Formats: sequence, C-alpha cells, structure tokens
Amino acid sequence: MELYTLPLDLPSDLERPIIIAGPCAAETEEQVMTTARQLAEKGCHMFRAGVWKPRTKPGGFEGHGEKALPWMKRVKEETGMLTATEVATPEHVELALKYGIDILWIGARTTANPFAVQELADSLRGIDVPVLVKNPVNPDLELWIGALLRLNGAGVKRIAAIHRGFSTIDHKLYRNIPLWHIPIELHRRFPNLPILCDPSHMGGRRDLIATLCQQAMDMGFHGLIVESHCDPDKAWSDANQQVTPEVLDFIVEHLIIRDNVEMTESLLTLRKQIDEMDDQLMDLLTRRMRVSREIALYKREHNMSVVQTERYTEILDKRGAQGSLCGMDGAFIRRVYEAIHEESVRQQTEIINK
Ligand code: PEP
Ligand code: MN
Repeated sequence: MELYTLPLDLPSDLERPIIIAGPCAAETEEQVMTTARQLAEKGCHMFRAGVWKPRTKPGGFEGHGEKALPWMKRVKEETGMLTATEVATPEHVELALKYGIDILWIGARTTANPFAVQELADSLRGIDVPVLVKNPVNPDLELWIGALLRLNGAGVKRIAAIHRGFSTIDHKLYRNIPLWHIPIELHRRFPNLPILCDPSHMGGRRDLIATLCQQAMDMGFHGLIVESHCDPDKAWSDANQQVTPEVLDFIVEHLIIRDNVEMTESLLTLRKQIDEMDDQLMDLLTRRMRVSREIALYKREHNMSVVQTERYTEILDKRGAQGSLCGMDGAFIRRVYEAIHEESVRQQTEIINK
C-alpha cells in the first residue's frame, strides 16, 4: 500500500532539515510566549508544546488542556510560527482545531493503541491538517505503519513520522533506544514519507541532543522535533532533556547537512546498522558476564571450582559447530568463545576469592 504524503506546506527555503521546537509542555502563558519569541528570533518556523501530557504515573503535570490553547494561538499571531501539539482523543482534535493549531502529533503511547488511533483517524475525516505520527513505545514497525495507514485511510494526506526511540527495560545511555534500523526500514518501505527525529525523548539528556541530531541528518531524516524551553532547569516535565532556544540554535547551526545524502546514504545506513548491532553485542556480553558472576556466587557457596572442564568443552564444541552452520569459520567462533570464557573466568575468580 502506498502512503499519500504531501509536503508539509513549509516555506521552500526550509526543505531540510525541518525544525519544530518548543517546550515539552505549555506551562504558563509567560513561559510559552518567552520561549516562542526566542525561538522565532532564531529563525524557527514551527512551535511545539504539549497541552495534554501523557504521564507514565499519575501525579505529574498532565498539561492545562484547553486553557493553554489561547497561548498557542497568541504564539501564532505574534510570531507567525506554525503551532503543533499532541492529540490523543477526538476531543483533543476538536479543541486543537478550534484554536487554530496547525500541526497535530500522535504520541508514542497513543500510536501503540490501534483503537485510539482509529478514533483519531475517524475524527480527522475530511479535515486537511498535517499529522505527525510518533513511533509506538515498543519497537514494532508494523504497528507504526498501521497507525500511518489508518490516518491515510481516513483521508489524511499530509502525514509524517517521528522517530523518538523505543522503551527498554534498562535505561542505559538513552532514555529510548534508537534502533535506527526501524526508521530506515520505514523509509525503505515508504520513500516519500518524511521522517523527523526527536532527539529529546530519545536521548533524555541535553548532552546527547547534538549528536543525535547529526546522526539523524547523516541518515537522511527530513527534520527534527526538539524540546526547547526558556528556562530548562525549571521545566515542569522533561527538564533534563530540554535546551534553551540559544543552545538549540547553536546545535542547528553546527549540523552538517550533506547534499549527497543519496550517494552516501547506503554506506552510512549500513554502518549505522553495524554500530547498532555492536551495541547489541556489547549489551549481550554485559548481560552474559552478569549471569556468569551470579554463577560464581553459586560455585562459592557450593565449594565448586571455577572452571568446569566438561561445560567449557561443551560450549566450545557446540558454538563452533553452530558457527560453521551459520557460514562462519568454526575455529574463529571457538577463538571468540575462548576469549569470552577467559574474561568470564577472570570475573568469577575475583568473586570466589573475595
Ligand atoms: C512529547 O513529545 O512531549 C511526548 C510526550 O513524546 P512521546 O510521545 O514521544 O513520549
Ligand atoms: Mn516531553
């Protein structure tokens, strides 16, 4: 199936990257206006702010709802920027449109729910408004595509995707792990669909934003949606990941936008896939070592020696044979496992002798 995606109606000099910026949430009229004016002064054309905030647990700031919509209207009137906000229900859609919001986005938690997406799509029937669809919280490309198709099926033609990373059980470096191969596959399946990157929710940390923006540009993403707040430390939500309009301007000014993306894209894409897999290998090795240390505790308690020869031989033989079956040199896989085993023994020895 083909997705009908038209340009988002942007000024022509802004083709790439499209930048949408603004605070996580509309907190006060003053915070909205100050941030918007600073962003407009830096040349930003599209302003985002959450009016309804999906929060993992109750008790956090859930947004002002309708009360904040006149502030967004004022942003548009006074700065000329287009405004964008998150919608999760047909009522949100109705209110957002009533106050002249220009761009709607569907949040990650909503994209994960086909019932909610279908209700949104039905409420948008016959309305020509651009809709940005964030990836679902879980790494399920089909679910993401499903949401895009539901909107498209309801006649929404101006659609773009936002890659904001995926939830994982351990939060290591990223708040939401990028898994770049997923948006890359989305691009392969729907080459005309614009894809923006949200480095703020992906990184969850200010210091990761510049690198993630550059990575997204290197991979040919069309644009960025970045959280920017006039006083990030005092933000009511997502304080750690918001940057001032000035910092955002610095990041955007320093982005290297390669013209020959198409030429370099395939190589970069492949390298990103390798990096991604190396990250996964590291993660698996770390987890393997953790289990190995737990085994050391068991061995210590039961007075067993560190190296159990039969078990070691079994691993080398089994994985060596499996490696050959997978088209690799069996001897190479044995060497890899010898090295892993050596480190495992070193870590277990430390624990046993404690
Ligand atoms: C947001 O953009 O403020 C937001 C809530 O993002 P996500 O849906 O990606 O978590
Ligand atoms: Mn946020």
